[in-house]
Amino acid sequence: MHAILSYGLLPTPPIFEVWFSYYARTHTEVVRSIDSVLDKKQDLTDAFCMDIYLRYLSDYRNEEKVRHAGTQIQETLHDFVGLVDNVKVATADYNKTLEDVNENITLAKTPEDIQKIVTKASSKTKGMLEQNRKLEEQLEKSKLLMDELKKDLETVRREAMTDGLTGLANRKSFDRELQDSILKSQECGKPFTLLMVDIDHFKSFNDNFGHMVGDQVLRLVARTLKDGLKGRDVAARYGGEEFAIILPETELNAGMAVGNSLRKTISTKDVINRSTGEILGRITISVGVAEFVFDESTEDIIERADNALYTAKHNGRNQVAAAPASRLK
Ligand code: GH3
Ligand code: MG
Ligand code: MG
Repeated sequence: MHAILSYGLLPTPPIFEVWFSYYARTHTEVVRSIDSVLDKKQDLTDAFCMDIYLRYLSDYRNEEKVRHAGTQIQETLHDFVGLVDNVKVATADYNKTLEDVNENITLAKTPEDIQKIVTKASSKTKGMLEQNRKLEEQLEKSKLLMDELKKDLETVRREAMTDGLTGLANRKSFDRELQDSILKSQECGKPFTLLMVDIDHFKSFNDNFGHMVGDQVLRLVARTLKDGLKGRDVAARYGGEEFAIILPETELNAGMAVGNSLRKTISTKDVINRSTGEILGRITISVGVAEFVFDESTEDIIERADNALYTAKHNGRNQVAAAPASRLK
């Protein structure tokens, strides 16, 4: 808590978790990231802490859930295999009994002999039926448990790819999508376009109206992006108040048009204080657009789109800027 206050950070649960992890030394990546900023005497920002949280801690929690589900599946299977083994032994024993009956019945001389054989066979049959009933019961239980675990894993999988605040794809999911887009583009020879979006003067909005309103703004922007895009387009939360959009099979000019249309839509929306109904003002975004250059890496295209975003900011914000197609290296 002391660190959070002394660096002027927001005391949100994720940021708290980051500092807890730093001091308790639970994740070396967290310690390394924070130490490197402290060593360079750079500013520690909320966005930076959130980035650390998303990269190293939110996934970790999901991994724990997956591990738990995995252990449960293993235990269920283990119990089940044990039961099947028991049934195998019982079935072999029952077969032996039936063979004995078959053999002995021809040798039986008196009704009492037959009576004895039948009683033995009947008791073994009862035992066998009981065993089968138990197996069925166990099967049914395992099936229910497996269904539940399947649902849990599906939820974990979805959560692991989704940003909790905005419901958009998260950074990890975006990294994968961008890599996929590059491979697809290289396969089919059609370009795609990357848009990096950053909210203008978001810090002052946060400082004036508080973190809750800031979060509300993030959701508003996320919803507007989602509503303004087509089915195959991917909108992701890239970091604190930055978003990234992948437009498949789209060239630079069309990407610029999409960026401008999103920018205009956002600039017309009022941010309203939920509790008082008061209109707090409007927000704008700046957008950097880059069309994929055939053999560049994910880092290259992100850097070009980021540079274009910087240009849009530099030229006065609330605008869209295109990245030149020149190679970086
Ligand atoms: P610019 O126009 O140059 O982009 O200015 P800015 O104020 O938007 O940029 P800056 O990077 O200085 O500030 C980003 C702020 O975003 C810092 C932090 O307070 C806020 N922020 C980052 N993540 C979150 C979050 O998850 N929720 C809220 N409410 N605020 C966040
Ligand atoms: Mg920013
Ligand atoms: Mg900003």
